[in-house]
Amino acid sequence: MQQHALTINEKRMDHRIAQLAAIGKISETGVCRLALSPEDREAAELVKGWMEEAGMAVRIDAFGNLIGRIEGEDADAPSLMLGSHIDTQPYAGRFDGIIGVLGAIEVVQTFAERGLVPAVPVEAAAFCDEEGCRFNKGLFGSRGLIGRLEAGELERADKNGVTRREALLAFGGDPERFAESQYPPGRVGAFLELHIEQGPVLESLGRPVGIVTGISGPLWWTVDLYGFAGHAGSVPMPMRRDALAGAARIIVGLQELASGEPGAPTVGTVGSLRVFPDSRNIIPEQVQFTVDLRDIDLARRDALEAKLRALIVSAAEANGLTAEIREDTNSEPRYCAETIVETIRGAAKEMSLDVPELMSGPFHDALAMSYYCDYGMIFVRCKEGISHNPKEYSSPEDIALGTELLYRTALKLCGASSSATDSKAAPLSFQAGGGQQDGP
Ligand SMILES: [Zn+2]
Repeated sequence: MQQHALTINEKRMDHRIAQLAAIGKISETGVCRLALSPEDREAAELVKGWMEEAGMAVRIDAFGNLIGRIEGEDADAPSLMLGSHIDTQPYAGRFDGIIGVLGAIEVVQTFAERGLVPAVPVEAAAFCDEEGCRFNKGLFGSRGLIGRLEAGELERADKNGVTRREALLAFGGDPERFAESQYPPGRVGAFLELHIEQGPVLESLGRPVGIVTGISGPLWWTVDLYGFAGHAGSVPMPMRRDALAGAARIIVGLQELASGEPGAPTVGTVGSLRVFPDSRNIIPEQVQFTVDLRDIDLARRDALEAKLRALIVSAAEANGLTAEIREDTNSEPRYCAETIVETIRGAAKEMSLDVPELMSGPFHDALAMSYYCDYGMIFVRCKEGISHNPKEYSSPEDIALGTELLYRTALKLCGASSSATDSKAAPLSFQAGGGQQDGP
């Protein structure tokens, strides 16, 4: 593999990843650090120490976000924010979210060690509860920061009956002071997130890092099909109203629709299926299943949605069923700012790195931030695309390259200059309020 000279400290990143993985450790490589748990709090304390070591002023805000900041030459300018999350799924690995937070700290610490002063403030964030597995709703801290929390979120309880309000208070957050922690428009000019890919694309291309072009929005449905139960041994085939046979047609059809355009990143999944009465000698009367359809191209996704609706109608007709579709979530794709993508390309070129561009199927804190400011993301290759699993793995070399790319991109975006020289790189002019329209 080609060697690239690194500015960032690869060993320090590696060591910190190992130290964090020890908090909430469940196996050799497995971690369980649920949002707002005592383990999450302990991890926040450790990361806070590293932020301070990097020279940042650090606080835990009312939403439970851990945010560090260094001032720029212009203390009032919109900041460059870097970050991700340190909470995990219950059966998780060591890298998801983590490398984005540690990468952010590494960038700031490298600035300090090289005597670089950014033109604008730089913030590093470990957002509270990105995963959403404990209270069944994620991106809590990042949505809180930009004023996009919804009614009733504090009353959501985990499976032990502990509400988010209680957990947040125990963690050190404060629901009474949300308004003080919410950022006014324009406080952050751009957001950059380093994250493992959680998919197999980079590995299949043999590339260590990639540039994200956007986060695809999922369309989530629950579909109910109603037929009529009967004896599996006596009802002749033409007289049947078999709900599962109808569901089978739809599931196969979704596979064909989603893979219809070669090379397109469209994905369609039926991940949950319930059959009633679920007996080997009764014709299935009722089937409920979920649909997850994602694409970075909303027009293409809309076209597929229309075809899928037509397919459900025809499959229901063919099997004598009635069908009901309930829309659970309909998120639009959110695109990375072209100026930031271009900046990452330039930084990669300096490193002689050949970086493919890809979309993100999973969502990240950057999705929330996309409603507030321009954003960009860098992906690091992960083994076999495995994530949300203790087997999750990214090599130290790949993480180092991703962090170096984050560092060089941040350097360009915040216009850091050596305090010893006169010539200063001009920072990109940040656009307050985001570079795209607001969606739902
Ligand atoms: Zn993550």
